[in-house]
Amino acid sequence: MTDQISMFAAVSILTVALAVLCALINCGFRRKSLLLWLATALLCAGMEVALLRPGVDSFLQAVGESVLMPLAYFCAGQAVRFLVGRPQADVTFVAAIATLSSVSVVLAGLGFENLYQTLPFKAAAALALADGIVTLAGKKEKDSLDLALLVAYCGLSAIFLLRLPVYPSIGDDVPSIYGLRRSEIAVVLLALVTLLLPAVAFLVVAKIVRETILGYRSKSERDSLTNLLNRRAFEQVAEEMRHGGGAVVLCDLDHFKAINDRFGHLAGDDVIRSLAALLQETGGSAARLGGEEFALPLPHASVAEAAAIADSVRERFASLGHLKLGEGCRVTASFGVAAFQPQRPVNATIAAADRALYRAKRAGRNRVEVELGDDASETWRAA
Ligand code: GH3
Ligand code: MG
Ligand code: MG
Repeated sequence: MTDQISMFAAVSILTVALAVLCALINCGFRRKSLLLWLATALLCAGMEVALLRPGVDSFLQAVGESVLMPLAYFCAGQAVRFLVGRPQADVTFVAAIATLSSVSVVLAGLGFENLYQTLPFKAAAALALADGIVTLAGKKEKDSLDLALLVAYCGLSAIFLLRLPVYPSIGDDVPSIYGLRRSEIAVVLLALVTLLLPAVAFLVVAKIVRETILGYRSKSERDSLTNLLNRRAFEQVAEEMRHGGGAVVLCDLDHFKAINDRFGHLAGDDVIRSLAALLQETGGSAARLGGEEFALPLPHASVAEAAAIADSVRERFASLGHLKLGEGCRVTASFGVAAFQPQRPVNATIAAADRALYRAKRAGRNRVEVELGDDASETWRAA
């Protein structure tokens, strides 16, 4: 008996400690709701285990269990919804859980037989648990952490199902279930919970940490206006391409200052985004180098192929209508192309493409120029 009590105490302390840990980790992250839901779920689970220990008044156990078990699974389900980016449960669902849980409390107050008193809150808990599993299972493109979480969640469901006939684990007349004494089953289930709850909490926190790191990495590599690579990421891509060959296209909007002055900065931003979208459609790792200047590294492309791609972007962009600029107003861009060479530093190749771009500007804009060698250059095609 004493061993059993200390087991209950250990599990409830561990669970509450995990809840506190989640609440503390929560302070360092923006996705507050997720960890708070998880902390609340753990807190409810810890309190539930504490209430179920031998010696606690059975009426208190019945009421506590009626509220805490569905609440724990509901909060865990909400955390899962946050984790996979699904909207929170709707009012009907919350009302159903709350009603079933309240019915159990009322039945406990009226002194109903255990079997009937526990049915409503068990149904509520099963609903909440099923919601979590369906949400996790329904997530598209599950990564390894999602799968591990799904397995752990299914484990919790198995324990829930096993607990149904065991409840309440103490003070019941039936001496044995599944050929085991009630107290033995209770200890086995508690041991399983002790393994699973930290695993679930760890997986959720690991997922948040991973997504946060990936988010920061993406932010450090991407331009916020266009979501293209930024200059730093472009320089890395270009450095990697130097030995494998390929070409780079530089691109600059024509007379863009005038567009901004005439139509405003927001309209200008839309124009920048529309050129970015066209560059992205080419399939290369398009980058925004700053302002209205872009780069398109094209691995394994010859200068002629790169110039052809640049010219198709030029042509499509020049014929594009822009909502905020009004009917008939067209914007153009100029392009410069150069080839990567293993013996030439990346900066020299970019400078070569920049020289070609400068020539395109001087030659009247809305055109593609290529830089073929040290001195040789040609206009690939003028508009
Ligand atoms: P050119 O044809 O010679 O390239 O002339 P330009 O007017 O395009 O070039 P200039 O360098 O004189 O002007 C570039 C303008 O781009 C100036 C600046 O206001 C605008 N610009 C830079 N970054 C942004 C941005 O993020 N959004 C908007 N709307 N405008 C920007
Ligand atoms: Mg410009
Ligand atoms: Mg410019």
